[in-house]
Amino acid sequence: MELSRRSFLWGAGAAALTLTLSNLQFGCERVVVEESQPGETAPEPTVLAAKPVALPDYREWEDIYRKKWTWDRVVRVTHTRVNCIAACSWNAFVKDGIVWREEQNTIYQPSHPTVPDMNPRGCQKGNCYSQLMYEPSRLKYPLRRVGERGSGRWQRQSWDEALSEVADRLLDIALRDGPDCIVYDHGTTNIDFGTGTSAEMRFFNLLGATVMDSWAGVGDLPMGCIQTWGHFNADGTSDDWFNADYMVIWIANPVYTRIPDVHFMLEARYRGATLVSIAPDYNASSIHADLWLNPRIGTDAALGLAMAQVIIAEQLYKSDYIREQTDLPFLIREDTGRYLRHGDLHAGGKDDVFYFWDEEANRLTDAPGSQGHEKQELRLGTMKPALHGTFSVKLSNGTSVRVRPLLDVLTKHIQQYTPERAAEITGTNAEVIRRVARGLAQARTAMIFSSWGACKHYHSDLAQRTMCLLMALTGNQGKRGGGIRPGAWYSIDALNEIANEVEVPFYFRLLGSIFPPKARDFEQFLEKHTRERPFTPTLPFLYVHGGMKEVVDRPDFNDPTLPRPVAEYIREATEKGWMRVSPPANRPPKAYIFTGANPLRRWPVPQLIRKHLWPKLELLLNVNFRMCSTGMEADILLPAAGYYEKIGIKYPQSLVPYVIFGDRAVKPLEDSKSEFEMFALLARKVQERARARGAKPFKDAYGLERDYAHFFDKYSKEGTIDETKEVDAMELLIQHSPVTKGFTWKDARERGALPIQAYGHYGPHNTICSDFEAGNTVYPQRWFTEKKEPWPTLTGRQQFLIDHPWYMEMGEALPVYKPPPTPGGNYPLRLNGGHTRWSVHGIWRDQRHMLRLQRGEPVMYMNVDDARHRNLKDHDRVRVFNDTGTFHIRAKPSSSVQPGEVIVYHAWENYQFRNWMQSQEAVPSPWKPLHVAGGYGHIRYRMFFYAPSHGPRGTRVEVERA
Ligand code: SF4
Repeated sequence: MELSRRSFLWGAGAAALTLTLSNLQFGCERVVVEESQPGETAPEPTVLAAKPVALPDYREWEDIYRKKWTWDRVVRVTHTRVNCIAACSWNAFVKDGIVWREEQNTIYQPSHPTVPDMNPRGCQKGNCYSQLMYEPSRLKYPLRRVGERGSGRWQRQSWDEALSEVADRLLDIALRDGPDCIVYDHGTTNIDFGTGTSAEMRFFNLLGATVMDSWAGVGDLPMGCIQTWGHFNADGTSDDWFNADYMVIWIANPVYTRIPDVHFMLEARYRGATLVSIAPDYNASSIHADLWLNPRIGTDAALGLAMAQVIIAEQLYKSDYIREQTDLPFLIREDTGRYLRHGDLHAGGKDDVFYFWDEEANRLTDAPGSQGHEKQELRLGTMKPALHGTFSVKLSNGTSVRVRPLLDVLTKHIQQYTPERAAEITGTNAEVIRRVARGLAQARTAMIFSSWGACKHYHSDLAQRTMCLLMALTGNQGKRGGGIRPGAWYSIDALNEIANEVEVPFYFRLLGSIFPPKARDFEQFLEKHTRERPFTPTLPFLYVHGGMKEVVDRPDFNDPTLPRPVAEYIREATEKGWMRVSPPANRPPKAYIFTGANPLRRWPVPQLIRKHLWPKLELLLNVNFRMCSTGMEADILLPAAGYYEKIGIKYPQSLVPYVIFGDRAVKPLEDSKSEFEMFALLARKVQERARARGAKPFKDAYGLERDYAHFFDKYSKEGTIDETKEVDAMELLIQHSPVTKGFTWKDARERGALPIQAYGHYGPHNTICSDFEAGNTVYPQRWFTEKKEPWPTLTGRQQFLIDHPWYMEMGEALPVYKPPPTPGGNYPLRLNGGHTRWSVHGIWRDQRHMLRLQRGEPVMYMNVDDARHRNLKDHDRVRVFNDTGTFHIRAKPSSSVQPGEVIVYHAWENYQFRNWMQSQEAVPSPWKPLHVAGGYGHIRYRMFFYAPSHGPRGTRVEVERA
């Protein structure tokens, strides 16, 4: 019997029937499976074990409805390469080789008897992934472009054809131009920390490709934390929020962005905690707050400095904490405004040893813990650093100079930021500023929830340095339930055993277990590793190769107080080796391979990327489970298996004290493959084609030998890694990683989640910097506050003075407020944004259930008065424009939006806009030249660290009816 399309849309079985139809149309084989009971190990489905059987006899939608609550088996799944900053375990219900629906797997135990549990974890996106995986956006076959880029003309290929072509093009480029002209972009955290990502990382590491460092490039880098702490991926579990008595949500909206976790904030209010929201608009989190402050966009540093001024003026700060944990007692020279250094007192002395005045001994004393100090700890013993006073010291040249503790210098500096002045700048009432300052200082425990969204303004670093100052003055950073929590991941340490070509020698590991390295040692290692490998930060890469110079160099888009033109700073940074770009300017990139990014949607000024970068590329390759905006312009598309079609690890976000695993519920849809299988096959193909062309070993631009004729031999580690051994690789990841110590893949797939047994090694994603504690909530930075290890900064403390010459020249040696510049030109409205509730980046952005919960097409929220002045009403189509670009969108007047603000929530796909021109077309995103400074302790580039940020927020625009 033939089913009409209309019949699918009727009745309770509609969605499920659509699913079935998709599979019937695809002609999927049905996988024969054995039934398993809950708690029992599900049988391993493999492609080889799959046998074609008769398709189910579904004749009408009622057939589906009647069998809705029957299934063949339940499989533990998750959403692996979704950058949702969460990790949730789900049960997928499988029947006839189809995933019909999912339910939350409620297996989490409370971390401590005094905090609520995590059940259930999930969000509405995860709850309809079983629909998304069968939608028309799925990539089903390898595709090769046969028309112009973006023309939508594709030819289906076999895997052998596709991999042969990719291997040949990679070899052409690597052997002719150098492998660093191949650029690999895994996005930010669109990776899985499991078998898939480790396989593709291994492939590109062995190839010698440039690795794109996208962290700052998507505007997620908490630069102010780096400047202050020397690291940034410091966080704990979300149930630790329940331990805070005073919580400030600052430039954030966790009700949208932390759906499985935000309940801990709201539950804390039941035991008397205060919740404050600081956001220009009355957002979905503000409505739950006890107090809402709505500063003008980009004025948060003024607000924070005024709070700090109140805390200092009213002496509400924690003296013992700041003596030990911060640079505030360090002596500052009155003549230069710089730290007093060892080199000032001794000819030829050190530049990284500093001083305070010991009140107990009444003498000048060198402060332990700084980068150059022989004593690498913060413990003060009997010393009591002075926080006030003026002292005279004799310099090595025989002259004397007056010095004062930094707290005194800061007190004078901060006097200008009275609450009344901050009220003028921010539009926030002065008494309310005082109230929050006192609330922060007097609470038993206070925290600031401010994460990646707070990094996307031009002067975000200044606002974050101010937040760090507030948390340090009040003694909250590195305390249970306290401090700023920008996010962190547990480390799956064994990932390095697969992903990296270099293995850590046994004696080195043994030595490390006897003398555990400190955060500073890890940082030195990461910096060295970065220098020896082709990493490139995104925005400098686009400046050199992608035409961004056109907008970044414009003085009218940049900070008007800069003493020198931006181009001059960039030239100096390049000459000094502070700003690194790979491949260098004289060797343009020839291939761009993206497996976790959607750059034409995410990068600023995509029109410039198309104009300048695209023509340089001989190969634009996307590995993806769905067609995205950038994939539509690719040369070759390789279809990845969906999240329920392969095994994987959901990247282990520290918010949940579990590592979450995904089992394979059904076989890969159509001709898709897991990344693990795909990259092993590609490695074989590279070796085969290299041998066919007689490729000889050679040294790449970094002096590393590349031997593509033995590529797969090396890739496979003498046969231990190949396309058939994904389960073995998963076993290795679980059993060799301390975070899952004592467990196996059988445990993981049975339970869906394993309780963490460690936090894992310090690394780019994990700088939790606390020793593992069983049976309690997780909070970061205990190495510093409890074990008294130095912070990985130049001074070894939370550092509030950065006396780097550029910081001094730009007037940002201490945290200051600077008015936001005018990127885009002189227009009256400021474009703001945020993550939306209904998608995670582009994934789910065009999912029909999610679209039905909102407008169904791109929409811009604007203040009702701003709309009225422009004669705009609800759902009018408007043109948004500035000197950089234009896009069309629907307008939604809303009284929750601040006057002068317009909001376009994140991640509409380009093809959802008229002419595929989306909101980034109007975003020039100039960057602070300060962010390519270097040569100063922790102020320097290493992968996923100190680099210029994408700052779309605050772009100036005008709006008119289209
Ligand atoms: Fe959880 Fe992320 Fe999946 Fe949502 S998408 S259910 S937050 S893992």
